[in-house]
Amino acid sequence: MMSNDDSQGRGLLVVISGPSGVGKTTIVKAVKERLNGIFSVSATTRPRSEQEQDGVDYYFLTEEEFQRRLDAGQMLEHAQVFGRHRYGTPRQPVIEALDDGHLVILEIDVQGACQVRASAPDAFMIFIMPPNEAALLERLRGRGRDTEEAIQRRFEEAQREIGLAHSRGVYDAFVRNDELARAQDETCELIRSRQLSAVSCQPE
Ligand code: 5GP
Repeated sequence: MMSNDDSQGRGLLVVISGPSGVGKTTIVKAVKERLNGIFSVSATTRPRSEQEQDGVDYYFLTEEEFQRRLDAGQMLEHAQVFGRHRYGTPRQPVIEALDDGHLVILEIDVQGACQVRASAPDAFMIFIMPPNEAALLERLRGRGRDTEEAIQRRFEEAQREIGLAHSRGVYDAFVRNDELARAQDETCELIRSRQLSAVSCQPE
């Protein structure tokens, strides 16, 4: 867990969640580039796809290594996503970047966001919504990354995740990705406003 002191570093911790296929990775990229953010590279036990690079997209770990790091207290949050693979945020790089005053972006699921909210009340959390269900299914198919069975599983998981995001009440904002450029602008604008309000609230 992150202590409350950790979340009060000079930087801003931003959590971006959303179902698979909603386009959140592209939105996160825009936030990173436009607002000079640092992307937190997660650890996962899922296999690496051909397009992915170890240490850039994820740290691809064995089950044993993931568990070892978790037991050693090295994860800020962690979750089993789709009931199969484990994902977690390495703690140290996040704490250090926040202490250095950076904007740090976590792209994590709702379970992880709830854990972060509990230990970092000042984190700013955004959930990216698909335009509608049909569009989401289209996007999952269009990625060409999964089998039809996996696509259906991700689709059901996406519907559950959207429901959970609303019921848990941990998100500060919901952004609908109906048009990518617009959703990127809205997300960056929300974060920028939060940064400005945090600065104006700081004691002299
Ligand atoms: P994918 O396997 O498609 O890259 O990611 C599957 C899901 O895992 C996504 O919803 C993503 O947000 C979530 N995820 C990725 N990294 C982390 C992490 O470090 N922690 C948690 N809790 N979820 C993660």
